[in-house]
Amino acid sequence: MLTRLTLLLLVVLTLEMRIAAQPAQAPTAAQKKVTVVRAGRLIDPETGSAIANAVIVVENDRITQVGPNVTTPPGAEVIDLSKLTVLPGLVDAHTHLGITYKEFPENNIYYLTYVLESTPLRAIQASSNALQMLNSGFTVVRDVGNNALYVDVALRMAIEQGWMPGPTIIPSGPIIGGTGGQFSPTPEMFQQHKIVYPEYIDADTHDEIIKAVRQNLLFGAKVIKICVDCKPWGYSVDDMKLFVAEAAKGGAKVDGHVQTPEGAQRAIDAGIYVISHGRALSPEHHKQMAQKGIYLASTDTPFTPYRGSEAAFQDTVAKLQSAHANKVLLTFSTDMDYWNERMKNDKGEWLTRGDLTINFLQTWRAAKIPAKDILKALTITGYQAADVIRERGPIKPGMFADFIAVPGNPLEDIDAVRNVQFVMKNGQVFKRDGVMTIDKLLHPGPIYGWNRR
Ligand SMILES: [Zn+2]
Repeated sequence: MLTRLTLLLLVVLTLEMRIAAQPAQAPTAAQKKVTVVRAGRLIDPETGSAIANAVIVVENDRITQVGPNVTTPPGAEVIDLSKLTVLPGLVDAHTHLGITYKEFPENNIYYLTYVLESTPLRAIQASSNALQMLNSGFTVVRDVGNNALYVDVALRMAIEQGWMPGPTIIPSGPIIGGTGGQFSPTPEMFQQHKIVYPEYIDADTHDEIIKAVRQNLLFGAKVIKICVDCKPWGYSVDDMKLFVAEAAKGGAKVDGHVQTPEGAQRAIDAGIYVISHGRALSPEHHKQMAQKGIYLASTDTPFTPYRGSEAAFQDTVAKLQSAHANKVLLTFSTDMDYWNERMKNDKGEWLTRGDLTINFLQTWRAAKIPAKDILKALTITGYQAADVIRERGPIKPGMFADFIAVPGNPLEDIDAVRNVQFVMKNGQVFKRDGVMTIDKLLHPGPIYGWNRR
């Protein structure tokens, strides 16, 4: 006999299944919104070329037509960007929106941030960072760990469901590493597995690796981030091949934090998808990565009044130059996850997370990499590394309408992308005439569907 509770549960479950079966946001003809964007110049970063006076037609969230000879459909809203250059949105291929460690009180020891700041607080910081990134033209962000208990996944869901605008987040969930992860927890921390442990999942054996990957996929990770060589025991080539195979079952790729030459070689031999951090890589590693098609997110910190040293900077520049000369698939990547009182411009105004992120261009300029190659790293290669390029990135029919506009020509002067005047994300205008217009993009509920992941 069914109890009333069981009956109620059945009803709820049936309802949930019906809702889950509905396609997310299927617009009817009556709802169709058509926007026409007139671009003074339209850049294709894939080929490093541009055309003048192009027209982009956007229907709801997708691009339907692009070219110089497109007629304006009747009833369309026209956005005039004829004085600007239009290009795809930018990608930061390695960052952490859910952590900001500081000089005070933690003395830049991000270990302490985990102790001092809760998951909910860091989730709210991540939301603010997401808006700041989109304001600077970043429409895709690979968010690879150090996000407390799945802040990155929650941020993705909030944006996908329509609570707030933001970049497309590619979250990893907690980083998976051998015992201890990237840290050296005290015995007290280790026994309780409460402090610091939201940040890392310990997985030593093959059974533990499979379980850790499945756990992250279950909770919404879109990429699997691992510590290749954070500890002397690190991961072997076989371990990493297992990560790759298990992640593939959930449609995810593997990104490895690498900090030693030996770890780099094992990661290359295992054929992981992205290597994070470039410090340990030699020209020989670069050659092998290019040959195997492994993406590099080298996190190239510039030397600024608020961060870095001249010596470290010169080394970073030389490594980036070697990677470029050896034709590695380069992404623009930062690890921009800290803050201090010196992060201000000449007028004494605070730099945003987006300003601080795009300022990593300094390193690329110092490495004398041609503007068109930098622009490709900032867009196309980033979309490939984020594994979204089949639906997002290039300004072509069928793609999500994510693009930005700047004065000047970034193919000649890459610093033009520091001055983003217009941002469209999923067909919605987020920034216009240099001003964020988010009033119509904040919602009191998940307007695209509560079950979007
Ligand atoms: Zn990082």
